[in-house]
Amino acid sequence: MALPRGYISHSQLRTYNECPRKYWFSYIEGIQVPCNEKVFLGEVFHAAIEHYFQLRIAGGAPDPSVVEDHFTSIFEAEAAGRPVAWEAPRRETRERGLAFLKHFLKHFGPKARPLMVEKELSAELPGSGVLLKGVIDLIEEDYAITDFKTTTSRWSDSRARSSPQMIIYKYLFDRSFGPLPATMKYEVFYGKKAANVRHQTLPVVAEDGALDRLLAMIGHVVERIGAGAFPANETAFCRYCDFRRECREKGPA
Ligand code: SF4
Repeated sequence: MALPRGYISHSQLRTYNECPRKYWFSYIEGIQVPCNEKVFLGEVFHAAIEHYFQLRIAGGAPDPSVVEDHFTSIFEAEAAGRPVAWEAPRRETRERGLAFLKHFLKHFGPKARPLMVEKELSAELPGSGVLLKGVIDLIEEDYAITDFKTTTSRWSDSRARSSPQMIIYKYLFDRSFGPLPATMKYEVFYGKKAANVRHQTLPVVAEDGALDRLLAMIGHVVERIGAGAFPANETAFCRYCDFRRECREKGPA
């Protein structure tokens, strides 16, 4: 079986490693499920800061209120045009997102030196010809690679350190632009309520051998997908799975 989208990505790898059956429902059957408000908020936040960085790259000095208005109009247009599973109320979610954005515009945005934003990169993996793709949120003039997260609680250092996402991004960056002294970091905006928003910067330094282990893992996942292996991985987290109804109704793969 060929890769369903013709390439492999970090989100595909994460889904397959969580549960191959879930990967089947999402990428092979292409079942669309409403996203929850946390994912929705992250998407709107990313769209707003992309707008901000595009204005900066074009030489502008955007007024914060313009970026905040942009956030609100995307939020309302998207919320009206697609299904969202609101576990927290819509208004509360919008206010929390605006608080994240205000924090970003005050503490992060003005210091950033954007070079590229939402940059899609791809590279063929040596030996297999498999195409690996990723979209980097921000590359700055000093080649700092940044990924932004919005979440409810603080991240641990180890969560950032062990994340394969950045190692994929750095690999794609080096393959696209040659080895450059690029640094990697997460900028995490977190808080459960608009009144209590915080921010943390988490540098990522890849451990020795991390890239080799990652490439081996990618090869293994691609091979399993090619072999049509999509077994269910039943764990306590199944209760949060978007496909639990399909999984129950259709039975084991
Ligand atoms: S309910 Fe559990 S086993 Fe079924 S697809 Fe979701 S994560 Fe996998």
